[in-house]
Amino acid sequence: MSDYRWLLYDTVDDGTIAVITLNRPEHRNPQNRGLLVELGEAFMRAEADDTVRVVVLRGAGPSFSAGHDMGRVHAGEAAPGPDQHPSFRENGGTKDGMEKWMRQEWHYFFNNTRRWRDLRKITVASVQGPVYSAGLMLMWACDLIVADETAVFADVVGTRLGMCGVEYFAHPWEFGPRKAKELLLTGDSLSVEEAHRLGMVSKIFAPDRLEEDTLAFARRIARMPTAAALMIKEGVNQTQDNQGFYNSLQAAFTLHELNHAHWAVLSQGESIIQTAELGGPGWQQAGPVQPADVRRP
Ligand code: ZN
Repeated sequence: MSDYRWLLYDTVDDGTIAVITLNRPEHRNPQNRGLLVELGEAFMRAEADDTVRVVVLRGAGPSFSAGHDMGRVHAGEAAPGPDQHPSFRENGGTKDGMEKWMRQEWHYFFNNTRRWRDLRKITVASVQGPVYSAGLMLMWACDLIVADETAVFADVVGTRLGMCGVEYFAHPWEFGPRKAKELLLTGDSLSVEEAHRLGMVSKIFAPDRLEEDTLAFARRIARMPTAAALMIKEGVNQTQDNQGFYNSLQAAFTLHELNHAHWAVLSQGESIIQTAELGGPGWQQAGPVQPADVRRP
């Protein structure tokens, strides 16, 4: 019963729990524009439905999400023509220079994520496998994160694309300031145990139990009175915002666009990320992500 191309939308427990499943498992659920727009629609659908108490966000297959779609599908939906996604013709899509990127990335990478973080429902991300770069953004937008034993977390855009982190810069809040610098400067990955120790991940389940145990966890939260649940969420989110979370996100987004502008200038408008021609490893040639081992330099 899904009306979506890139994801599945289901409800369980008499409609009290909505389950949104990123559904491009063969490519590890990369985030193309069509998927992100549908995800926004699915979140708003769950928010509008007064029966829904908890929203679970999960990914089909071996990986929750390996980041933004850098490959063929993205090129197809971005290129002018019959297959172009309509979002590339609005919200800055027809503008020139950095204005185009500032507007497009604000709408489709930054403000959508921030909006999902403030969804009027309790949200639980259920993740497995590599959760890289933009995969972190989706997961971080949720109130709670549960994972299976295969989950690893990394933002590789610093070491692979010459970028200062993904558009929704929650890294210092999720990892702590020093760990954020370490992970961004090395591109190393955080293990699920370490993510749990840092407080980012609430539960670690066996891979074959992830779906079932996530639902059991969501069910416990769904029993809370919805008014209290919302005010707990708001209490914590407003505390973080008063600590500077929202303003910091906006400032870091501006730096992110400055970083894109840097590569745009050096490449004379050809690329907004570091490519092999600009001295980078090239995202397709970069080696495997290494675990952040405390004994390995
Ligand atoms: Zn960007």
